[in-house]
Amino acid sequence: MMIVRSVAELRAMVAAWRRAEEIVGVVPTMGALHAGHLSLVEAAKGACDRVIVTIFVNPKQFNNPEDLAKYPRTEERDAELLGPHGVDVVFAPPASEVYPEGFATKVSVAGLGDPLCGAHRPGHFDGVATVVTKLFGMTNADRAFFGEKDWQQLQIVRRLVKDLNLPVEITGCPTLRDPDGVAMSSRNGRLSPEDRAKACVLPRAMQDAAAAIASGGTAAEALASARTAILEAGFAEVEYLELRAAEDLAPLERPDRPARIFAAAWLGGVRLIDNIAVPEMSPA
Ligand code: AMP
Repeated sequence: MMIVRSVAELRAMVAAWRRAEEIVGVVPTMGALHAGHLSLVEAAKGACDRVIVTIFVNPKQFNNPEDLAKYPRTEERDAELLGPHGVDVVFAPPASEVYPEGFATKVSVAGLGDPLCGAHRPGHFDGVATVVTKLFGMTNADRAFFGEKDWQQLQIVRRLVKDLNLPVEITGCPTLRDPDGVAMSSRNGRLSPEDRAKACVLPRAMQDAAAAIASGGTAAEALASARTAILEAGFAEVEYLELRAAEDLAPLERPDRPARIFAAAWLGGVRLIDNIAVPEMSPA
């Protein structure tokens, strides 16, 4: 497994693979890898001849400088974790390689980027859309793998690929969870043991709300109870907790089309996000 830092070197490797008619997959990450990331790598291995994992903590998608500074950087351990997974290249460029002097372009996906995390993290999804577009250009990959954990991001990436006619096929992969139901995240490591024990209330409350909504309860009531349970468990703030359409993220009262509950909540100074499917109701 090679660690590559320059776009020129990466492109030369990928060009050779493509000449040999090999299918190239990419798994974009910000490092601090966990089993959720490794499940994307496995999906890529299963669908591609060559796999690139990118590790880049993208400054443009952090609206909060403190969050950027605190974001875990564990490249050596990441490389060790990837070792047994048959990854061909780790592309870990410095910021100057991704955003050289004079960089002036922004990719912005209207609509899908506005609600949920977009409303609370100004500029976040423009940063994501810009770096993902660049990673597709730099890697020239045929297929790219993203987690459903970041559902809104996945929908934004699908949209921009369609809108910009990018020749890359997007695969969404299910959220990996710890045994207590908490979605794996690089940020979970920043929770104290006490707070980590409380974190399971978030997915549990979301599941309870999903069950209530699927059996005919109103979204407003089910989500209000979930919010109370989350705050009573010791979360400092529920940033959002909403029922929305899975595809276009339109707000919903009832799951009369594929729907998900989306949540972001603060626990011990750490912002956790999650989303789950709500079983569809047949129209009355
Ligand atoms: P990140 O390093 O947090 O930017 O995540 C890189 C990729 O891994 C994104 O496509 C995420 O959606 C995905 N990912 C993060 N956590 C999980 C998880 N628990 N299960 C599956 N995919 C995940």
